[in-house]
Parts: sequence; C-alpha cells; structure tokens
Amino acid sequence: MSRATRSPARTEVDFGPPARAVAEEARAWLADNAHEAASHGEVRGITPKGAWTDTLREARWLCLGWPEAFGGRGLSGLEAAAVDAEFARAGVPRPTLGMGESLVGPAVIVHGTDEQKARFLPRILDGTDRYCQGFSEPDAGSDLANVQTMGVVDGDELVITGQKVWTSWYWDATMLFCLCRTDREAAKHDGISYVLVPLDRDGADAPRNGIELRPLRQIGGDAHFAETFLDGARAPLDNVIGGLGNGWKVSKTTLGNERGGSAATQHVRFEVALRKLVDEARRRGRTDEPVLRQRLAAAHTRVELIRFGGLRTLAALVDTGDPGPTASIAKMLWSELHRDLGELALDVLGPDATVVGEGYRLDRWQADFFGSRSSTIWGGTAEIQRNIVGERVLGLPREPTAE
Ligand SMILES: Cc1cc2nc3c(=O)[nH]c(=O)nc-3n(C[C@H](O)[C@H](O)[C@H](O)COP(=O)(O)OP(=O)(O)OC[C@H]3O[C@@H](n4cnc5c(N)ncnc54)[C@H](O)[C@@H]3O)c2cc1C
Repeated sequence: MSRATRSPARTEVDFGPPARAVAEEARAWLADNAHEAASHGEVRGITPKGAWTDTLREARWLCLGWPEAFGGRGLSGLEAAAVDAEFARAGVPRPTLGMGESLVGPAVIVHGTDEQKARFLPRILDGTDRYCQGFSEPDAGSDLANVQTMGVVDGDELVITGQKVWTSWYWDATMLFCLCRTDREAAKHDGISYVLVPLDRDGADAPRNGIELRPLRQIGGDAHFAETFLDGARAPLDNVIGGLGNGWKVSKTTLGNERGGSAATQHVRFEVALRKLVDEARRRGRTDEPVLRQRLAAAHTRVELIRFGGLRTLAALVDTGDPGPTASIAKMLWSELHRDLGELALDVLGPDATVVGEGYRLDRWQADFFGSRSSTIWGGTAEIQRNIVGERVLGLPREPTAE
C-alpha cells in the first residue's frame, strides 16, 4: 500500500506546448503566492468568499475557459487541466465560482447574445450573481426533458409556475437557472426554454419573486437541498438564453460541463482520502487483516484507473478539443469509488461507525459516507452514464424510448 500513501504531488503530465506555457505561468505565480492560500480560511458557498478567492480573481485564475474580454483567459480544456494540475501539485485549492462559473457561464458563452454575455458574465465573476440550478422536478430527473414547469410569455416577461426539487446551494443563491416548458404543443425536447430567474432576495432573506424554497433535511442533519416552488415568478424575456424553445440544446452545454470534470486532477481527492483511510486503519491496528488489506489495495487500483481515465480524457481533448463521452466513464468510475470508499471507511471504523444520534456530531468518515451516497445520482446517475457509454462509446443499440 505504500504507493497509495504517497503525496498527490506526483501528478506529472506533459500537456504539450500551448498548455505548457500557461502551466509554467501558473507554476511561477504559485511559487510567489501559494503561501497565501494556507493563511486564509475561505467561506464555502455557491461562490466561495475570502481573500484567497479574491487573489485568484485578481490574478485571473478563475473562469479560465471564459473569453479574456469577460475576465477569463480563453483557455482550452487541456490548458485549464494543466493549470489545475499545477495547483494540485502546489497543494493549494483553485476554487471555482460554483454553478455560475461551471454551468451557467459556459451556456451563456455558447448560446447567449453579446448583450447577455456582457450582462451576466461579469456579475458571476465578481460574485454578485450566485446561481442555483432548477432543472430536476418530481417527474423529471434522468428523464429531464419531461419538465412540466410552465413558462408563459406576458409582454416582455416570462411568468413561471411549477415545482423543482433537489435545488443545491439554495441558501445563498441570488439567481435560479431554470428549465421550463414554453410550448405545450411542441415535441418533448423542443418546447423547453432555459431562463435565468432572479430570486430577488436581499442577503439571507427569503426570495420574493413568487419563489419559495423549502429546505430538505438530510440523514446527516444538514439541509443542502431545497424544494423550489415557483408561483408566477417573473424573468425578463431577455434572460432566456438561446431563444424560446431552445432550452434543451442550451441545457446540454450545461450538462456537458457538469460531466466534464477536471480530468487531470479528479483522482487527487480520492488519493488523499484513501491515504487518510490507510492511516486510520494503521492507527487501529487493522492493516494486517487480509480481507481489509485486499479492499484497501483494490481501492488504490481504482484510484489509479481514475487517474489513467483522466489522462485518456486529456488525450481526447488534445485530439478533438472535446472530452466527449470519456467524461461519462470518469463520472461512473469516481462516483462508484466514492460510494465504496464511504462503505470501506465505516468497516475500518468498525463499531465506532455506528455512533449516531441527537446532539452527536458525525465524524468525517460518517459524514463522508452519507455524502458519498449522492455521488452516483447527481449530475446524471451511474446507470445513465452507462447508457451513454453503451451507446456512444461501445456503439450498442440505443435504449428504446417511449416516443
Ligand atoms: C446531491 C444531489 C444534488 C443535486 N442537485 C441538483 C440541483 O442543484 N438542481 C437540480 O435540478 N437537480 C439536482 N439534483 C437532482 C439530480 O439531477 C437527479 O436526482 C438525477 O438526475 C436523477 O433523477 P431522479 O432523482 O429523479 O431519479 P430517477 O430519474 O427517477 O431515477 C431513479 C432510478 O432509475 C434509474 N434510471 C432512470 N432512468 C433510467 C434509464 N433510462 N436507464 C437506466 N436506469 C434508469 C436511475 O439511474 C435511478 O437509479 C441533485 C441530486 C443529488 C443527489
């Protein structure tokens, strides 16, 4: 198990000439500034807040793929991956500005008008607009095109009514990016619009724009999601991205980004978690148990597979500029490893893992166990990723649809 206990700093990949230049710039900058990261505790949220995030914003290490005109660096996926690898090597975080940066920004850049880019992107970058995602509904999760939330045009506004669910990071959001049906007569995938809806909230106040957020309490005691009820919520028609009825296409840009991940570094957090788990097993004198040893070793093998998978995604980026369906393989592998590591950790803890109850604060392994159960669900379930891999990588027949 000695390799699993090594530092993640061994990530050494040559990303090729264009990426090498920006990687060298990042390395030089980190040599001068990385020490700052350790001294600042960042406040986590939809958009992380704190001095380190401000330093990154100023030095333009946020929103790397965005056009330079909007504060980004216009980097390709490969170049961004090279920068991430440098930050991982230096052992300092490169927080992203949440869903605004990773999901809404790319959709606006690809499908928005020039006016929309100029209006929405700077507000994401400076933290004014913080987005939560209103896609899923009680009957529209994997089958997202089944959204029933209605959007009705009223003058120069869209009036939205319906129910969303699993709205993550809702507590601090100022905007909801939302899919709604604006044409009941159109075919299922055609009548959908992608709209940016203001929550009209002031600080920690409840939203006012006809929107109610009802927190969903989780098994670990936190409430990381809300049910979102929209009752005549209003958004200017100018906030519809890609035009009325084109929301499905726009949402695919968003989901493509959600599934893209950071190919060069996606294994690092599991490498670190496994290293800590091996230490925990050692502390408990359990590393001599053959079955446990075997499971820890198997987990190490899977971390390596994720690392190699990331390299394959990078290769796809070099060849075509698009991670393609390799990102689905990655999501499948890391989410299932996350879930299994959660179970393995509880087995390492043994009876200690069963301590729960009123007033007891879950330890990191217990909390991670509960959190890990969601990884194979959000951003496209592991089964849906298998469908994508079956159809687009292996060329198997498409699954039958109801239509
Ligand atoms: C932690 C977390 C955060 C989330 N955050 C958000 C958010 O911020 N905003 C948002 O809009 N949504 C969010 N979601 C919702 C998430 O996108 C959905 O849960 C997910 O798409 C699955 O949909 P569902 O829960 O309706 O399950 P269903 O689609 O009902 O699926 C139920 C089961 O059936 C399987 N299944 C369904 N269809 C197929 C198929 N065609 N082939 C094989 N198996 C199938 C699924 O894999 C699953 O096991 C979040 C979910 C989680 C867990």
